[in-house]
Amino acid sequence: MDDPRDANHQPIEDVVASAREAQAHWGQASFGDRARGLRALASAARVDADLVRCLIEETGKPEYEALGFEVAYLCEVIRYLTGRAGRRALAENSRSSLIFPHKRARVGWKPRGVVAVIGPGNFPLLNNFGDAVAPLLAGNSVVLKPSPRTPGASRRMLALWREVGLPDSVFQVVEGGPEVGRALADTCDMVFFTGSVAAGRELAARAGERLIPCVAELGGKSPMIVLADADVEAAARAAVWGAFAGTGQICIRVERVLVESSVADAFAESVRAQTMALRQGGEEPDVGVSLSAADRERCRALVEDALARGARLLAGGGGPPGSALPPTVLDRVTADARIANEETFGPVLPILRVADAEEAVRLTNASPFGLSGSVWSRDRDRARELGRRLVSGSLCINDVLVNYFFVSAPFGGMRASGMGFRHGAEALRQFCVPQSIVEDRPGWGPLAAWVRRQIGFPYRKRVLEALRFLMKVLYR
Ligand code: NAD
Repeated sequence: MDDPRDANHQPIEDVVASAREAQAHWGQASFGDRARGLRALASAARVDADLVRCLIEETGKPEYEALGFEVAYLCEVIRYLTGRAGRRALAENSRSSLIFPHKRARVGWKPRGVVAVIGPGNFPLLNNFGDAVAPLLAGNSVVLKPSPRTPGASRRMLALWREVGLPDSVFQVVEGGPEVGRALADTCDMVFFTGSVAAGRELAARAGERLIPCVAELGGKSPMIVLADADVEAAARAAVWGAFAGTGQICIRVERVLVESSVADAFAESVRAQTMALRQGGEEPDVGVSLSAADRERCRALVEDALARGARLLAGGGGPPGSALPPTVLDRVTADARIANEETFGPVLPILRVADAEEAVRLTNASPFGLSGSVWSRDRDRARELGRRLVSGSLCINDVLVNYFFVSAPFGGMRASGMGFRHGAEALRQFCVPQSIVEDRPGWGPLAAWVRRQIGFPYRKRVLEALRFLMKVLYR
């Protein structure tokens, strides 16, 4: 389409132009003013019943997850970034030089302009407005495009943005499918994308054409490595939660378990029993329903493939095509099964039995992904050492999922799981361009003028000799 428009029939170019105009003022505001505005927004979101309601209605997730995973996350990320760590990360600071001791550089962090945040369907708040917080705080305008499957939370955040009196056009929401995402990548100054590998690749290539930065937070195949000396009961409990929370539609979910053979029977039996006790549907469900029929059928195909290659079905499976897939556990999955290698992103937990820790490391690092995972052992030093050998952007020792809520620590993927990162005060700087201004230190004027005369034209022999001497002293 030549002129992509959002759900309100507004041309994307016009939306971005108004965002750019508004950014000029927002970027000039102090960190304190922007932080105060975002904290007021967090206070409004925390108690907003409509926000929770639309999260539940659009995704089918339990209230506990809508509030605990999404709204609580938003409050926490705003609390952390608007605090001392964020202020320090964006403050102008001074750097010195060994070669020019009479000078200093003032380094400031200028916002990039208009950042496109393109979000996925599984976390309509956390991975949508949640990812707009850092670029906004850094002084950018944000145009947010939620998934067409779950636009409600973004609409609600826009309404709250206006209600608390934050400036118009600094934050806008556009709706639509891939064509709207592409139009944003073609007009904004930076892309922050969360979603599938295929879409991330396409957007990164588009951004590359324009030489604008693109952060891509993509899929994963996060392993849970259970060593023989682990607390097997605790590991099994975490496996069930880590695999089936969010109906298995969480990027860092337990995508596969690699358990040492000597404890595999006990582990598998505990996982089976706990999975059978999960409630799906009804008044107070533990597990919801996958977002789309396509997701459900992809999961069914992966289960069929694993069974055909010799895996055993411990729980779930079955159901007519298109229906909700019950929480499903597969044991003795072979390393060549599709479900051992492709992202499942649904309520299926494959268990692979491994001979030892070395095999677990080999299988983990053979994956094209590198997003997250966990290592389970009573020996924390050993678990940490093993974790350092894994290709993975972040990891938990003896826990699952909680690393995402550690907003002070950078979170991002390796390999096909993406590039760039979110979280940590350092992530704020991704949304800025550093500007270094070099000047004479106060009180060093005469020396500075003398040095300036020595280093320029005409080149002189004695200056060359002095340079040789200096290099000998400095870089001995
Ligand atoms: P998706 O790629 O289908 O869609 C994500 C967003 O991109 C949507 O807004 C969609 O409309 C848009 N989009 C899709 N194709 C596009 C294109 N070609 N050009 C421009 N925009 C396009 O992903 P999804 O199904 O919504 O999300 C599931 C995926 O997201 C999973 O792989 C999951 O692992 C991943 N995910 C990753 C993280 C992370 O932090 N790494 C977090 C959540 C989800």
